[in-house]
Amino acid sequence: MAEQQTTTKTTCPYCGVGCGVLATPLETGTVQIEGDAEHPANLGRLCSKGSALGDTLDLGNRLLHPKVDGKRVSWEQAITSVARGFSEIIAKHGPESVAFYVSGQVLTEDYYTANKLMKGFIGGANIDTNSRLCMSSAVAAYKRAFGSDTVPCSYEDIELADLVVLTGSNLAWCHPVIYQRLKQAKEDRPEMKVVVIDPRKTATCDIADLHLPVRPGSDATLFNGLLHYLKKEDYLDLEFLEAHTEGFASATSVAKASAGSIPQVAAVTELQEQDIVKFYQLFASTEKVVTVYSQGINQSTTGTDKCNSIINCHLATGRIGQPGMGPFSFTGQPNAMGGREVGGLSNQLAAHMEITNPEHHDRVARFWKADNLATENGAKAIDMFEQIASGKIKAIWIMATNPVVSLPDADKVKDALKKCELVVVSECEENTDTTALADILLPAAAWGEKDGVVTNSERRISRQRSFLPLPGEAKPDWWIITQLARKMGFETAFPFEKSADVFREHAQLSAFENNGVRDFNIAGLADISDEGYDNLIPIQWPVINKADKGTARLFSDKQFFTPSGKARMISVEPKLPYHQVSDEYPLVLNTGRIRDQWHTMTRTGRAVRLNAHIPEPMVQVHPLDAANFHLVDGSLAEIKSRWGEMIVRVVVTDEQRPGSIFVPIHWSDQYASMARVDALVAAVYDPISGQPESKHTPVSIRAYKPV
Ligand code: SF4
Repeated sequence: MAEQQTTTKTTCPYCGVGCGVLATPLETGTVQIEGDAEHPANLGRLCSKGSALGDTLDLGNRLLHPKVDGKRVSWEQAITSVARGFSEIIAKHGPESVAFYVSGQVLTEDYYTANKLMKGFIGGANIDTNSRLCMSSAVAAYKRAFGSDTVPCSYEDIELADLVVLTGSNLAWCHPVIYQRLKQAKEDRPEMKVVVIDPRKTATCDIADLHLPVRPGSDATLFNGLLHYLKKEDYLDLEFLEAHTEGFASATSVAKASAGSIPQVAAVTELQEQDIVKFYQLFASTEKVVTVYSQGINQSTTGTDKCNSIINCHLATGRIGQPGMGPFSFTGQPNAMGGREVGGLSNQLAAHMEITNPEHHDRVARFWKADNLATENGAKAIDMFEQIASGKIKAIWIMATNPVVSLPDADKVKDALKKCELVVVSECEENTDTTALADILLPAAAWGEKDGVVTNSERRISRQRSFLPLPGEAKPDWWIITQLARKMGFETAFPFEKSADVFREHAQLSAFENNGVRDFNIAGLADISDEGYDNLIPIQWPVINKADKGTARLFSDKQFFTPSGKARMISVEPKLPYHQVSDEYPLVLNTGRIRDQWHTMTRTGRAVRLNAHIPEPMVQVHPLDAANFHLVDGSLAEIKSRWGEMIVRVVVTDEQRPGSIFVPIHWSDQYASMARVDALVAAVYDPISGQPESKHTPVSIRAYKPV
């Protein structure tokens, strides 16, 4: 008789939607994947990537054993080599000479352990994450407006809204299950309206009542214009503004001065005046409005300001904290938010505390019993690699990410790592563009093999559970970090034997001397048992008390986390993107995701059905630009910027705005040489958030003629 198969409830490892997955290993050796109907994020749905998870679990290209200088070694030898390398460099050059670059792919327990080791015990703060590239502008804007990094909404609010504004978000491809939920809600309630603000006519526009193909970089002018319109046409919630906000007078006066009249907004944004009026009237006259924003807003040298210009419009109308209302940033990665909770950014401590806040510093130092807790913020992602290039940082440990492909000015990143004294990479995959430069390789457990939690875009903590044995000598990241910490002499601070131990300590830190502050708080989980952790059902923070079922939305009591308890409206002076087009580089390069690939394709690139969608690097070009630059659909083109060049297949489409081209981010040198688009992207970033301007690099394009 066939053996009974066991089904494990886990969470998808790809985008920030955080869908629940049912994984059932079959006797055939494959794994059956289904959507979890009980998971509140997806209610049984999955997108193409999630559905294909079973196709990506084979062990081809898996890194199965530790390696030092290309030779297989034992874990003991590998950890000793890392500890010796880091300790010697720290002894000679100080804690700022070493760094960890982690990832929104790792679990909260991994993040917590890495952050504790670097900030608490090594004593520097050079730990940052590739999530810096996807959501740090949204984080900085929430902090400015609310006094804390707190996303106010739930996915349910998108379904309850009468108007959903999607700006800088190709939801249909980048957060497909929420797109499915929105589409369904619109079919159920045809009176619901959807406005899409995007230079490109993306798949998301299929459900749009209005598409605004905004000029790249002009978003803040559009939202400043809206704020001015709301005031001028008397759509403000004066009671809310008076009692619960500050900064209104300045924000509206700057909005008026910078945006001006509708014709002036139209001139800057290159939109039709009647379309702008239609959008402003819809927003003004609809009570239940959710504005979803993502990388198209965040990835800019003024990303934080752009986010605040959106939040301002919600505060001006009091549309926050109630069902069907609010500004709602979406994270790109499965655990971008979990990393934020435990100090995964170089300017944070765990539990949403700040390194430079003396009270926070003292609280964390006493909880960790850490005499050496970092006192200054560390390097953000782009600066971290600049400091490697300049020789200031001499050792780096890269966890679960591929910066040689994914960071801007990627050739410079590659050169920096080539020169770096010690490069440690912990990875599931043996051959990536980044592992090729590692001195020490540490085999990490992959999805399906490890246990922990992730937090999705609506603050929902969900378990990732293992359902496959660890292959070869692969180990979970928190375990690897713990071994290093012990080897470096910090045994008592790293007693962790299982992921539940790490999670419990993380929850206890959020409860420690918290004095009832809600903010990020999972005090209700502080004494969770191993069994409770194993059975943890998806729950939205804050979770203040043991009996709490979580918090669907924040600010329903109109109390914010600023010292005054009031939300801050921020005065936003729109600025142009950092680099402008020129005769030499006349087009704007916009980068982003496609529907069926994830990041640098180390996983999704294995699934035949996913590769069938868009099989090779491509550039989308408007027919006018194709004619101007003598490009033929289906031919090859060479794209150049001041930082790098690449070769791609041309797709001529009127979905693209004239003057702007789009290239997906996914391909690497593993596919072909000159396939990395990030080699072209300038490493300029928002001075507040550190997020790079990946949506606006001046480039040239011409037909490719092989020599
Ligand atoms: Fe996974 Fe995101 Fe697709 Fe859900 S929407 S299945 S989380 S990739």
